[in-house]
Amino acid sequence: MDKIKSLPGASRLIRHLKCHGVPMALASNSSRANIESKIAHHKGWKECFSVIIGRDEVAKGKPAPDIFLEAAKRLNKDPADCLVIEDSVPGVMAGKAAGTKVIAVPSVPKQTHLYTSADEVINSLLDIRPEEWGLPPFQDWIENTLPIDPWHIGGPVIKGFGRGSKVLGIPTANLSAKDYASELVEHPSGVYFGWAGLPTRGVYKMVMSIGWNPFFDNKEKTIEPWLLHDFTEDFYGEELRLIIVGYIRPEANFTSLESLVAKIHEDREVAERALDLPSYAKFKGDPYLTK
Ligand code: ADP
Ligand code: MG
Repeated sequence: MDKIKSLPGASRLIRHLKCHGVPMALASNSSRANIESKIAHHKGWKECFSVIIGRDEVAKGKPAPDIFLEAAKRLNKDPADCLVIEDSVPGVMAGKAAGTKVIAVPSVPKQTHLYTSADEVINSLLDIRPEEWGLPPFQDWIENTLPIDPWHIGGPVIKGFGRGSKVLGIPTANLSAKDYASELVEHPSGVYFGWAGLPTRGVYKMVMSIGWNPFFDNKEKTIEPWLLHDFTEDFYGEELRLIIVGYIRPEANFTSLESLVAKIHEDREVAERALDLPSYAKFKGDPYLTK
């Protein structure tokens, strides 16, 4: 139970702040012992925190402010100068009650409305902009894209909602959700890009969204890859292999279909340019795409 995977962007954030000498506290409603055993599985994390506090070390847990007040005290900081990053509603309340600034990264998707007392609600840790909080900016974005640990999914192309090309002029080759169920849970919704292989045809640039498509209010989370190539025919049933190498932006809602389509074309241009950069281009030759 203790080997919980870290959230995308967590390690990057912790290391970035540590690197720039920003003091950090880990303040959780779990017991101190529990926290210790959980972070033991993440190499180098423990050393990044100057303070670690569990529920058992203060009078009242979140939503009471005690944990964050104690954390600030041990950091020797005024709570007003602290930034809390929280995934739970009680945690956001605790941070605000302690007088800190609070970024909410809701652990339950589509529940943004419950987190309105936070100073900012973001979709995932990939979307943190430290400079907005007086902290050193990340320097790993390249040409409006964020390199991520590449991940692979593949399977036969199935029928989707039948509205990609019809409504938008943007066909998306759908895989069966069961072929990537665990990846769906693991990866935040948003716009990503990478390489797509159709073993009998070739390897193509690809931009894709992961999410519920707020514009269409889908009930299920899906992956929607658009291959950046003009095909003369459909390829339902063929094996499709994807390597996802970078992140562009969180999912957004749009007030009109025109603005949604315009944004998708902007994403396409960002992906097309980025995939020519050596750090992304090198994955084009990965045998996973063609075997
Ligand atoms: P569906 O809802 O069935 O996925 P779409 O309107 O999204 O229908 O069209 C996707 C289908 O179109 C793919 O499964 C594929 O067979 C075909 N297709 C043609 N060109 C492309 C492309 N450039 N990218 C993705 N799919 C394409
Ligand atoms: Mg589709």
